[in-house]
Amino acid sequence: MFSIIVPVYNEEAVINESYARLTNVISSLNKPYELIFVNDGSKDKTAEIIGGIQKEDGNVTLVNFSRNFGHQAAITAGMDYARGDAMIIIDADLQDPPEVILDMIKLWGQGYDVVYGKRDKREGETFFKLLTAKIYYRLLSSLTDIEIPVDTGDFRLISRKVCDAMKNLPEKNRYVRGLVSWVGFKQVSLTYVREERFAGETKYPLRKMLKLAVDGVTSFSYKPLRLATMIGFSFSVFSFLYLLYVLYLKVFTTNTISGWASIIVILLFSQGIVLMILGLIGEYIGRIYEEAKNRPNYIVNEVIRKD
Ligand code: UDP
Ligand code: MG
Repeated sequence: MFSIIVPVYNEEAVINESYARLTNVISSLNKPYELIFVNDGSKDKTAEIIGGIQKEDGNVTLVNFSRNFGHQAAITAGMDYARGDAMIIIDADLQDPPEVILDMIKLWGQGYDVVYGKRDKREGETFFKLLTAKIYYRLLSSLTDIEIPVDTGDFRLISRKVCDAMKNLPEKNRYVRGLVSWVGFKQVSLTYVREERFAGETKYPLRKMLKLAVDGVTSFSYKPLRLATMIGFSFSVFSFLYLLYVLYLKVFTTNTISGWASIIVILLFSQGIVLMILGLIGEYIGRIYEEAKNRPNYIVNEVIRKD
């Protein structure tokens, strides 16, 4: 059986179309399948529409969250409820063409455990998003020791083995694409063209994008902390040398300069760095705090499915 996992948040404008296209693609295989929509606390008619579809089509499962827990939590829930031998994670907005799923399944048939979609071209996205994504994925791969492939999103196929391995990782603030790389197994990429959103607007405002970006770095690397140490160390060395210089001026010469401007500049600059590093350490501590509280990644309101 194949499980298709679709996280949805306020997607009333696209849900019918993505249901139709996904069903069209997956039913062409003539194999059993399930279509799992994880409704991440939508405030529009998304739940009603999927509920209506579910009544007509026994292959559809609807998992309703109690509120908005975020895209990564929705994917995680989809994996928890999936019963297939292979699961495909895909966005609802049809930016990732469902037809690619058939190629993914072919590669899975050849023995691959993870087939991740690699974005070749991205249509209709802002220059800002393209640029930040490009920089971010490269920064991330230089910071982490595991291979997180560049230019991939969460559109991918994973095997039952990978899914079970990931279910054993109870960490919070999940960065699913990183975790998939982390578990290992036989992975392969599949290049595709990312299209424009079918309808509606992006559900990833800058705030959510930033959170995802920070989660990616902090879940897979503590190099930023090491960088903080390095900066602190260089500052100390520099200050010590400067101290020697100042003492030399004081003791051996008469021209000790009274420089208000330079003091202020150095003070503000070093204070800025110190605060930044404190914030950075805070990010990691915040994550330790989240883990310690050990709250679930999501709360399900109800699951609607045939049996
Ligand atoms: N999504 C979600 N919860 C959220 C935000 C987004 O489940 O809090 C879903 C959304 O419905 C879509 C997918 O995650 O299916 C990707 O979102 P979107 O297409 O808006 O992101 P973009 O492609 O613009 O990065
Ligand atoms: Mg999208």
